[in-house]
Amino acid sequence: MKELFPVFKKNKDLVYLDSAASSMKPQKVIDAINDYYLNYSVNIERGVYNLALNATKRVEESRKKIAEYIGANSKEIIFTRGASNSLNMVALMLKKILKPGDEVITSELEHHSSFLPFLNLQKEIGIKLVFVPLEADGRITIDNFKKVLSNKTKVVALTHVSNVLGYKTDVKEIIRLSHEVGAITSIDGAQASPHMKLDMKDLDTDFYSFSFHKMCGPTGLGILYGKKELLEKLDPVELGGEMNDEVTKNSVTYKDLPYKFETGTMPIAEIFASGATIDFLSEIGIENIEKESIRLRNLALKELLKLDEIEVYNKNQESSIIAFNIKGVHSHDLVSVLAENNIAVRAGHHCAEPLHRFLKISASTRASFYFYNDESDVSKFLDVVKKTISFFREVGYID
Ligand code: PLP
Repeated sequence: MKELFPVFKKNKDLVYLDSAASSMKPQKVIDAINDYYLNYSVNIERGVYNLALNATKRVEESRKKIAEYIGANSKEIIFTRGASNSLNMVALMLKKILKPGDEVITSELEHHSSFLPFLNLQKEIGIKLVFVPLEADGRITIDNFKKVLSNKTKVVALTHVSNVLGYKTDVKEIIRLSHEVGAITSIDGAQASPHMKLDMKDLDTDFYSFSFHKMCGPTGLGILYGKKELLEKLDPVELGGEMNDEVTKNSVTYKDLPYKFETGTMPIAEIFASGATIDFLSEIGIENIEKESIRLRNLALKELLKLDEIEVYNKNQESSIIAFNIKGVHSHDLVSVLAENNIAVRAGHHCAEPLHRFLKISASTRASFYFYNDESDVSKFLDVVKKTISFFREVGYID
């Protein structure tokens, strides 16, 4: 698979285990970006000349592909700058309809981009954040979710797959229960979209956010899926060019969906590439992608668990992520040694500080596997981790 990704041709020794931060981009996606700059380079939705009309057609083809891929209607697909942008937009759209005292359910498992926009609304308009109690290992369960769900719940904003522990939350049941009390659901799918078949109709969520750069696609592009009936009722959060229908000195009407939520010039090259991304993922098959990522992760996990010096925080689950530390060693020290050996792994709190506080650690090491990794990546990674443990022991850093 590595041959499909130009970056590996230039970096033959690279062991890339940081795909949860951003995935590598295949030639096909890069070609689609180049296609825009080489053959179009014009704005969309405005011009009536052929280049502009053809570029607009390509953008709408991408939108349609994405809609079909996630079981949605094209009108429900809003192009954004990324998952963070989408999640912020949801909070801003709901700001107008939330009142002081309304409860918003979140959790300590969230990425900051899911949690902070609502923390801000707590300060700005006095909504109340309510946290789902996590199980000891950091999981969200339906039983615990039910403990915080009530008639006061107006929004449920939770992550589909944790970016640190890889847990898949049963969001379908959470959405069903939330709708029983009339709450609006916003799901952070940034870590789910690279690994799972998504079906908005089946999930029945009101909002769903994800980024393309984590799923072999371009940077700077995300999707905000929103249910048509709900989006129609909500106002845009950004005003400006192309999202409006008629403007006078003191009034404005908005375009139909999804355009009223897309202000100014869109990232057109990236939108071209999003269609190519969907083609690429479909050709490989998301089930195959997930199976291979988990297989490689489990090979590495099995060996790490044999080492007494290693603490793994998410050993009892199927995912592509291992969150771990060498006991008594800061994760930054370990990843620095790994980096010297051309092994890319992430250290820190991974934009999930409340989760690290919950786990009572300041930082963790995250190795995230994807389908383009191979068994030699796993063995190089394990080899350097073992050598690092021996080195730290020799210098008296650990017992
Ligand atoms: N949510 C989760 C679970 C993530 O892992 C990330 C990125 O790491 C984000 C949101 C934010 O995504 P982006 O940086 O693409 O906006």
